[in-house]
Amino acid sequence: MGNAASSFLNPIAAELEGAPSRPNALTLARRARQRRGIQGMIGVSYVIDALILLLYAYAGTIPLMIGPLYAIAGLSLVAVSILLSEAGFNERFRDHYLIAPTSAANMAIMLAFTYTAPQVGVMFLCTLFTVFSFASLRSTPVQTAAIWTAMAFGLAALFLLTDKPIAMPHNGHLERFATMLVFILTIGRCMFLGIFSASMKKSLYQSGQKLKEAYKRIEELAELDELTGSFNRRCIMRMLDEEIARAGRSGSPCSIALIDLDYFKRINDAFGHPTGDEVLRTFSITMFANIRSIDRFGRYGGEEFLLILPGMTSEGASRALDRLRAIVAGLDWSAFSPGMKVTLSAGVTTLKPEETPDTLLARADSALYAAKAKGRNRIASA
Ligand code: GH3
Ligand code: MG
Ligand code: MG
Repeated sequence: MGNAASSFLNPIAAELEGAPSRPNALTLARRARQRRGIQGMIGVSYVIDALILLLYAYAGTIPLMIGPLYAIAGLSLVAVSILLSEAGFNERFRDHYLIAPTSAANMAIMLAFTYTAPQVGVMFLCTLFTVFSFASLRSTPVQTAAIWTAMAFGLAALFLLTDKPIAMPHNGHLERFATMLVFILTIGRCMFLGIFSASMKKSLYQSGQKLKEAYKRIEELAELDELTGSFNRRCIMRMLDEEIARAGRSGSPCSIALIDLDYFKRINDAFGHPTGDEVLRTFSITMFANIRSIDRFGRYGGEEFLLILPGMTSEGASRALDRLRAIVAGLDWSAFSPGMKVTLSAGVTTLKPEETPDTLLARADSALYAAKAKGRNRIASA
């Protein structure tokens, strides 16, 4: 029951499983299968009740035809529902189970049979109770109120506009046995609905968790570079804007460094692209391990990175970058591949009053160019 219950009771779970806006063929087939399952349960319910009606007929409480008629009415409704469902009619509606009209039709059958066979009225009223509880599991509050109002009018008409003696048969063993079955089945259906709604709570909780995880993943994907785990270009550029604005407001200095790995093409050529990727990852981790928590480090593109150093003067930034340069150059890169050496060059600049991110980056780029020109594995300041 787990899956059927969770998707019946929990539209969020169903949406998560399939495409919410335009369901694909697979989702449509799954929904049709779920609807068949629900209609199957309703059909079985009608057949069981029809058998109890036959018991009442055998006991002489009602005419023999009531049971078969009840089965025919119920199964016809089930058949129409399945036909509509298979024709894709249900998919035109937000609630593809069509709970409100289905419940209304089932209630109409119960009221009609209470009118026709009031001698066993208690049985139809018990079933009415189950139909209503079942409907309210998935309906919106407005739908539930509408279904309840329709049911109240139906019952009012039955009780107040007719003088039918709506009864609970209890004369003789067979009648008492049949009535006992009615109550046992009703309580059984209540239990079934209880299990159903418990599984709803569980599946709601699970889809809540799934949603949380998905959002977290989306946020991460939007901010982080997949290969290195550092901030991606879009994110680091946004952070640069923010830090420049902050420095403008507070009047504190702000430095940046454009860092480029030296001769990286050669590393790829000599050791392979996957090893090159590993080098980029290790470089990134090394940087994170050696910068302050307020510093921002992101991938600017390829093997080029941007480091933002809020509050740092030009001298401080050059010192910090030279320290990072020495750490990277001093790593035992031969652990990756014998003979491997990785160094970096960086262009450091400090924000001037009223400077834009573009000119700041352009100056850092020229400084980087100068560092490369001077022989690499060094820091240059603009
Ligand atoms: P320079 O010292 O002048 O910077 O030399 P370089 O070889 O590092 O410079 P260039 O910009 O010519 O080459 C950068 C190389 O970085 C080329 C490209 O294949 C490699 N690269 C860029 N992105 C990635 C990546 O994600 N993974 C790997 N393995 N290599 C990358
Ligand atoms: Mg390079
Ligand atoms: Mg480069």
